[in-house]
This record gives sequence, structure tokens and C-alpha cells, in this order.
Amino acid sequence: MSFITTSLFELFKIGPGPSSSHTIGPMKAGYCFMEEVRKLDTALLEQADIIEIHLFGSLSATGEGHGTRRAVISGLLGHQPETCHPDVLDGLDHDPEQVYPLDIGPKSIDFKGNEVVFDAVEHDYPYSNTMVFRLQKGEKILFEQEYYSIGGGFLRWKGWEEPQIGEPKYKYKNMAELKKHLVMHEIRLHDLILENEMAITGLSENEIYERLDNIIMVMERAVEQGIQTEGILPGPIGLHRKAPTLYAKAKRGHFQGPGFLKAINAYAMGASEENAAGHCIVTAPTAGAAGVIPALLFMLKRHMGALTDEIRQGLMAAAAIGFLAKNNASISGAEVGCQGEVGVASAMGAAMMAYARGYRFQVTENSAEIALEHHLGLTCDPVGGYVQIPCIERNAMGAVKAYNAYLIASSVEAAYHMVDLDKVIKAMAETGRDMSRKYKETSLGGLAVSVIEC
Ligand code: SF4
Repeated sequence: MSFITTSLFELFKIGPGPSSSHTIGPMKAGYCFMEEVRKLDTALLEQADIIEIHLFGSLSATGEGHGTRRAVISGLLGHQPETCHPDVLDGLDHDPEQVYPLDIGPKSIDFKGNEVVFDAVEHDYPYSNTMVFRLQKGEKILFEQEYYSIGGGFLRWKGWEEPQIGEPKYKYKNMAELKKHLVMHEIRLHDLILENEMAITGLSENEIYERLDNIIMVMERAVEQGIQTEGILPGPIGLHRKAPTLYAKAKRGHFQGPGFLKAINAYAMGASEENAAGHCIVTAPTAGAAGVIPALLFMLKRHMGALTDEIRQGLMAAAAIGFLAKNNASISGAEVGCQGEVGVASAMGAAMMAYARGYRFQVTENSAEIALEHHLGLTCDPVGGYVQIPCIERNAMGAVKAYNAYLIASSVEAAYHMVDLDKVIKAMAETGRDMSRKYKETSLGGLAVSVIEC
């Protein structure tokens, strides 16, 4: 296992919902494939007349419901997640026979939506979410590329090599090593994360803050949009948005007592409902779990008087937890179930709350540990393959649990805490390995089969 080199902006990515592994990863794959194709020899390109894409694993099982086909098509058409407007996606894939002209350099190929093929769920590729892109002349394959959407919108491909990036100033693989740096160098957690980010990405402190502020703005916008938008979410379930009602009730209760909890629920569900609508969110750490951290961030800012610096620092503490989970287990529902998505989001959110409220490192770690511990074993079983049931309410539960984990950790003697974060992350990885594939974003088990779709 190598030391952590993930950037803040790989973890917190802006892009369309509803599932980072099913939308952001595939959109990037479509974009990358076209870039590769255009580099091919002109004589070869002149022969090509078909582009075909095969989706495997959970991309095949639930890609239809997650909008994977339109994500792939938008990538092929040259769109990228950070800048792609939801209207572009909303306008794609209504008719599988629709033709999209794809410019491959010397010519254009007519591509049809149904040339994205939902292939085998079980397969031998190295990652569950595999995509095979082919440029063909009739049946003859001229060029082929295998891409893997490994969760959180991260993309790998066959032959992928770790890119040349800067070395982090403080090298660590797990929480125990991270803690040693904090003590040995008498540095605070957010400063360590900031210095590592500058070393890895080459960005300046100001550039990092600028990008972080943009992340915060998109998170807030998702909540604001979500608590104001009524109606029914896309897809056959016919699920009504609930965030505006919860918010109105929280407001009526002056955000006090039950009103405080209703507000957390409203904010988490608001951002999640925006995600389910395919609108712009921030992966935190994934799109499916994109409601937890924005809800807590909104609470901190709007109801607890947190300052911009405190929010930025809290977000960096949250990122530290996400890095550890990603490096030592997984943040993909297809790899370890929902414990890796909403569970990790909840742990990150709990750490953010503690850190932004001024608690030092031990309380921050304990908050994250408690939140993750009580998500262990959580399966991923979206009904109909749509990131709606249980995902939207699950984000609300994850945010409330995060808040509660922070309350417990900040109320009791930190030194009495028995379980450290490394142990619970290890338990999550092992539980994920033992979990049946039915419960890993395939919609073949759990709620996905016990709830009848309308
Ligand atoms: S159940 Fe959890 S992991 Fe699965 S799609 Fe929903 S939010 Fe993501």
C-alpha cells in the first residue's frame, strides 16, 4: 500500500448526479476515448464506421436507472463533468435510435444511443464498473480501450499508470502515521492537508482556497435549490421531492428542538434530490452521498455562525478522513456497499463538524470513527437502479448520525475512546469483501427486490 497522494479536488469533484461512478466516470471515459481516437492514424480513422460501448458490472445492472448512457454520450460529444450544464444531459437519450454525429478527425461517425450496450453483470475484468469502448469497421475492431470507473468519479484504464505528481510533504498511509506527523511537527490537521495539497498539485495557497470556496458554493447551491424545488423526480418510481416540506416545517419550528433535526434532514435531502435530478453536485465523497456534507456545512454556516475559514478548515479535516477511507478500503458502493458512500460521507461530515467547531484532533478522529462504525455493513440496493430509494433518505440519516457522532465525541473524555479510525476502516474493507455482490450496487438484492416499483 502506498502513501496518500489524492488531491482535495479529486475527492470533491463538481459534476452531474446521480451517481459519480455511473455518471462522472463514464462521462470522462467518453471524453477520453474520443481524445484517444483523434490521435489515431488518419488511414485507420478513414476506415472506421462504428463506435460501440459495452458496460459491465454494476454499470450494466443499474446504469439504465443512473443515466449512464446519456453520461457516456455527453462525454463522446465533448462535454466534461465540471462544465456540463444539466440541460445538455436532460436533452439526451430520450430515443435510443437517436443519431449523434461524432467528429473523429478526418470524418464523422453516426453514433446511436443503443450502441451503448448494457453487457454482463458478472465478468472477469479487474474492476466491477468496467467500460469497453471500440472503434470498428463493421465487426472488425480497429481500436479498443478498457476504462474502469472506480468510484467517486475516479477513472482508470487498462495500462493506467500513477501520474507524475508532486510528492506530499507529509507522507502517511493511515491515521496512525498521520497522527505521528501532527505530533512530531506540531502542525494542525488542516495545515498538513494544505501543505500536502500544494506539494502534490503545485497550486498556491490562494488557488486552493479559491477552489475550495467554489466547492462550498456548489454545495450550498445544491441545498438551496433542493429546499426550494417541489415536484416529482425523474424515473419510473414517481418519487416526490420532500426537502421543501421538511424545510418549511423546520422554519416554522424556528430551527429549534425537532426543527433543528428537521433542518439537517431537509438540507441533506435537498442536495440529494438535486443529485437524483441529475443536477450539479459535489462528490463528497461520491454523488450518491452528496447530501451529507452540504447539509452539515449549511448548518454550520446558517445556524451555528461558522466563519469561512472554519468551514474551509473543516472541509480539509473531512477530506483527510475521505483519503484514509479511499486508500485503505473503498468509497465505491459497487466495491464495498453503501458503508463506503454514505458511511464515509457521515464520517467525513462528523470530522468536519468537530474540526470546524474548534475541537482538536482526537475529538475529530473520534467523531469520524463513531459515524463510520455505525454504518458498517450497510448495503447498496437502490430500487430500480435509481439513486432515490434508499439513497435520498439515507443521506439524511447519514447527516443526522454525523451530527450525533460529533455530539458524542465532543461530550465525553476523548482518551476513553476505545476504537481508532484505522480499525473501523479495516473492518469496512473486510465487510465489503465478504458482502455478496447482490448488495453492491447491482440492484439484485435487499430493498431493490423487496420494494415493487410503480
Ligand atoms: S444505496 Fe448508497 S451506495 Fe448505493 S447508490 Fe444509494 S447512496 Fe450510493
